[in-house]
Amino acid sequence: MVKPVIPIRKETPRGPLPLIPNILSEANSRTLDRRQRPLRDLRISVTDRCNFRCTYCMPKEVFNQDYPYLAQSELLSFEEIHRLATIFVSLGVEKIRLTGGEPLLRKDLETLISMLAKLRTPKDQELDLTLTTNGSLLSKKSMLLKEAGLQRLTVSLDALDDSVFKAMNDVDYPVSDVLKGIEAAQKAGFEGIKVNMVVKKGVNDHEILPMAKYFRNRGITLRFIEFMDVGSSNGWNLDQVLPSAEVIAKISEHFPLEQVDPNYAGEVAQRWRYQDGAGEIGVISSVTQAFCHECSRARLSTDGQLFLCLFATEGFDFKTLIRSGRSDLEIANAVMQTWSNRDDRYSEIRHLHTKDLERKHGKVEMSYIGG
Ligand code: SAM
Repeated sequence: MVKPVIPIRKETPRGPLPLIPNILSEANSRTLDRRQRPLRDLRISVTDRCNFRCTYCMPKEVFNQDYPYLAQSELLSFEEIHRLATIFVSLGVEKIRLTGGEPLLRKDLETLISMLAKLRTPKDQELDLTLTTNGSLLSKKSMLLKEAGLQRLTVSLDALDDSVFKAMNDVDYPVSDVLKGIEAAQKAGFEGIKVNMVVKKGVNDHEILPMAKYFRNRGITLRFIEFMDVGSSNGWNLDQVLPSAEVIAKISEHFPLEQVDPNYAGEVAQRWRYQDGAGEIGVISSVTQAFCHECSRARLSTDGQLFLCLFATEGFDFKTLIRSGRSDLEIANAVMQTWSNRDDRYSEIRHLHTKDLERKHGKVEMSYIGG
């Protein structure tokens, strides 16, 4: 059989080089952006490839054999990721999430995890080190991930009904294999696993209740995510968004819920608990109740561009910076400078952008920037 040839990108468009101030300051974990938001959370995309073709994220028509994925030399190496992560942690980052693409497709990911697991915050605390996955490789990899020091896991699953799930992942992947992956992760010792379900009106909203029923009493927090207008290829439309308030109302009819206080300031999911003690669910209302005002998250793309917002059109080229012989202090200063100029709040002003075609078509894809 002839192997398919996957073209790779020869050169990726890069964002501007981050500025290094003339006078360097000490790394400081209290840097605020222009809207007084601290930097606490870093998402790192470790690959732009995925083995699923979820219709709302990496639709087949776009992410086909002609799609120019990043070349190996363009990816940040584990050493480069570790170096940048160390700098970000010195600047106040307390939580790191590995994502992608499908992060478990990155070869030897557990090596990177064991490197990151050793990092300590300036207050000598462990990082909250976590990963988002489609679950397809969890049966194989859960033990390795746990041993490497990964603390938490989020698994994406959009339906329990096989035909609905297969239509959404578009590679005929069965639900049972994801559920087996979640069980393997629990056996490997992962606690407090979260399952994320993207709700698309008219596509999988009838799966809300079966999903809630299944994950109740299993020690798993199911979280419902409003379908977002990320990237430029998923044909997003407001009519396809089911407001989280409706999700809560739907579940409450069968299993009464009560709201719970956030675990920490800036938590994006609103927490709800089953009144009968069967556990918790969460809703992420990125469209109907934007949380930009407390967003403390930066994103590092697979090729080392730093994005200050999920809906950004360009990032800052930290890969070139770290490959140019700059010191850690210089890079830390570039991060502080970049963060202190941050003013993004796309979701809060989304309605102003709907007619802004440039923004609409220039937004980077989630698989590249990291979901
Ligand atoms: N491959 C991994 C996975 O499936 O979890 C990590 C990457 S994926 C981009 C991360 C998360 O983003 C998934 O839960 C996915 O459902 C979600 N996602 C992708 N596109 C989305 C969109 N347009 N709106 C809301 N969530 C989206």
